Amino acid sequence: MLLHFSPTKPLFSPPNLRRNPPISPPRSLRIRAIDAAQIFDYETQLKSEYRKSSALKIAVLGFGNFGQFLSKTLIRHGHDLITHSRSDYSSAASSIGARFFHNPHDLCEQHPDVVLLCTSILSTESVLRSFPFQRLRRSTLFVDVLSVKEFPKTLFLKYLPKEFDILCTHPMFGPESGKHSWSGLPFVYDKVRIGDESSRHERCDKFLKVFESEGCRMVEMSCEEHDKHAAGSQFVTHTMGRVLEKFGVESSPINTKGYETLLDLVENTSSDSFELYYGLFMYNQNALEQLERLDMAFESIKKELFGRLHQVYRKQMFGGGGEGKKTEQKLLNDGVVRVKEESSSSSSS
Ligand code: NAP
Repeated sequence: MLLHFSPTKPLFSPPNLRRNPPISPPRSLRIRAIDAAQIFDYETQLKSEYRKSSALKIAVLGFGNFGQFLSKTLIRHGHDLITHSRSDYSSAASSIGARFFHNPHDLCEQHPDVVLLCTSILSTESVLRSFPFQRLRRSTLFVDVLSVKEFPKTLFLKYLPKEFDILCTHPMFGPESGKHSWSGLPFVYDKVRIGDESSRHERCDKFLKVFESEGCRMVEMSCEEHDKHAAGSQFVTHTMGRVLEKFGVESSPINTKGYETLLDLVENTSSDSFELYYGLFMYNQNALEQLERLDMAFESIKKELFGRLHQVYRKQMFGGGGEGKKTEQKLLNDGVVRVKEESSSSSSS
């Protein structure tokens, strides 16, 4: 006899326990818990089929600190993660449900929808130069997360086949600052080149949706504009963090709120590799200027302090009268130091 299985009807209806005495099925047709759960299995299966059809296959290139951090969330959003890195991360990958490929050719043979570049800034060009693009589908979406933006954009336009879509992004947080939540954290992106077909736009939006639904503050901005802002904010932040780390700030029994923020700054920046910091300096053309401004600002503060100290000594050595004018120095954006005198408001450079 052929038994037809209907996905919406269970094989056996549960007996009405109130009216009828329990009927035990014939020995040969004994129902086990696993059979009774078939209807739920089917629904779960449908759900997972649906998720699979809307999921992206994402290839993460560079499975270090940041690559692993991002991958966990991408997997949680139902995407299929495959990965490749210079070092062997096969057990780290399998522990979060991703598949690791030792050989980039094998990774490309999986035909991912998206390739997500998470390698260091300094290695970008050598990684791109040796990557077997020819094994990928011609419509692949290439995304990067580098902390500088003009540099990878230029390299992508130079090395990627022109059929590929390009999305340059910078999640402006890391494993430390985004440890508990991504809510309100800035995510900068530039749709550098997305083909006309609606499916290409949908794919790009689906990728961005992960960050949007995690609550990130989505900022669409050109790569050039990003680098200008980032040099004055992120690079300065990292520099101050590293300076304070070298200086050796330590917790004390009388920490003020301000001092606690300095300790947090050191903690946030010290977990990033020096290579990353060096990349922020080397591959953002605005960084050098900001470093020089910082240096000048520090010198100017020192001059202001020593200037006053000098006045006190003079007063002590030569007595009362002739107290010098107190001055305040301010470093302007153009690098000019403006000196403001307290008694009369004249200024000079
Ligand atoms: P990183 O030191 O900038 O990069 C480490 C990654 O680069 C590892 O996956 C490493 O692979 C790979 N790599 C280094 N040299 C390589 C080479 N010569 N050839 C191939 N791969 C090489 O540290 P990260 O924190 O993981 O950052 C990764 C990327 O994310 C960077 O571009 C960074 O700007 C960006 N990002 C980082 C943060 C953050 O908070 N950390 C935030 C936003 C964006 P192996 O480990 O296999 O050697």
